[in-house]
Amino acid sequence: MKHIFTLILFALVLPSTTVANGIHSSMRYTVDLDTVGKYLNVELEYTSTAPSPEVLLKMPVWAPGYYMIQNFPKHLCDFTATDSEGRSIKWTKEGKNGWRIVLPDNGKAKVRYRIFADEYDVASSRIDSKAAFIAPNGVFMYEEGKKDSPVTISYTVPSNWKSVSTGLLPDKGKLHTYTSPNFDVLYDSPLLMGNHLVKKFRHEGHDYELALETPDGFEESGFEDCFRKIVSTATQIVQDVPYSNYTLIHMGKGLGGLEHLNSQACYTDGSFRFNDRSEWLNYLALTAHEYFHLYNVKTIRPIELGPFDYDREVFTPLLWFSEGITCYYEAQILHRAGLATEEEMYELISKYMRMDERYEGHHHQSLRQTSYDIWLTFLNEDKNYKDVTINYYFRGPAVGLIMDLEIQRLSNKKHSLDDLMRLLYNRYHKAQGRGFNEEEFWTAVDEVAGASMSHIRYIVDNPVDIDYEKYLTPAGLILDRNTWTIKPHN
Ligand SMILES: [Zn+2]
Repeated sequence: MKHIFTLILFALVLPSTTVANGIHSSMRYTVDLDTVGKYLNVELEYTSTAPSPEVLLKMPVWAPGYYMIQNFPKHLCDFTATDSEGRSIKWTKEGKNGWRIVLPDNGKAKVRYRIFADEYDVASSRIDSKAAFIAPNGVFMYEEGKKDSPVTISYTVPSNWKSVSTGLLPDKGKLHTYTSPNFDVLYDSPLLMGNHLVKKFRHEGHDYELALETPDGFEESGFEDCFRKIVSTATQIVQDVPYSNYTLIHMGKGLGGLEHLNSQACYTDGSFRFNDRSEWLNYLALTAHEYFHLYNVKTIRPIELGPFDYDREVFTPLLWFSEGITCYYEAQILHRAGLATEEEMYELISKYMRMDERYEGHHHQSLRQTSYDIWLTFLNEDKNYKDVTINYYFRGPAVGLIMDLEIQRLSNKKHSLDDLMRLLYNRYHKAQGRGFNEEEFWTAVDEVAGASMSHIRYIVDNPVDIDYEKYLTPAGLILDRNTWTIKPHN
């Protein structure tokens, strides 16, 4: 997920045949939808045009951004492999997510399998009589060692379904067919089909699509205008737009959102008719959060987070920055965009701090440690989880605020956290096409502040009670520790 995710790659129409390690091969998928049985019927036409005795196909066991092993192959059944005459060919299962297939002399194999799709989390697929959400990690296999190969996918869409939305651009002249330049891009491009509302527009030189499964109240809500403001404000922070087109997929009632390369997929409140302003702001904050992730984690990223190993956990001590600081920016973006008042911005951050205070675990686990160990605790509901762990979503935004204030104070207001985001984006993503390691990250923090920020690193690396007033008071902010509310000093 590094420099390869650029506008240029999206503009290219690549053939789905590749040459890697001197071996030519092509992969073409067709997906037929069983809307009654809730299966995705997948067929892969694999062709190796150079002599090769076998091929190992792999399915990811996790999805980037959703830091838990979901074991997607558990939803797979009825695997078969045949030659071009329809005769069965030999295959063996290899580990929990590999299928090794003996290739016929002509190198052509047809692989079929079915995926049961009835999971309602943002990293999993689901299908029913009305709609389908395709999370590609749990549907498509890549060839071991050839993750960088292009791949073509054609969907057979029920004739009464009118809308198909994804970040991938469709192949010209071919209905419901998409070619991805590689599997990292494919896995980062979820797809929604059904009869959802589609709203397309151009904004500041780029194409946008809103795909809304439950649009009741959408027009009156002014959401499109709000989204445009979120985009303008967020892109102004980093001052570069790393895509040609962006697709916002917001689905029905449910929980969670997941960031993608040039799209986001979220479950929502189920309509645009919110009970109060707080609910509305939470919804806008979710939208801004997933949008800002296209910078913070997709392009401004810890070095471990791409290119991905889809077979196993990918450990990094920096998720507190990728997630927690994105929570800080969701509040900042809404305020700078004129969508939330200053008080509302601080309330969004305070809301997270209140949650953090409920975790006795902050005496036992640091932000750094919870980042590294997230693979053990994602969606954790063990009886003692609040006693022994913390949550980087809750503590992270408060640390983002004091980091921002300290950078401003130490640099005599010449720099802010925005400068850190730009520096990391330009130095690592743009110039080197890679992420940064932990030492490079803290070096950049010191550089932007123009002084040592080791006291902030101490707060991140150790389980401590944070002396918030030390940082908030000089900035004219008051923390009410009874209600855990930050307010500007008037
Ligand atoms: Zn996030």
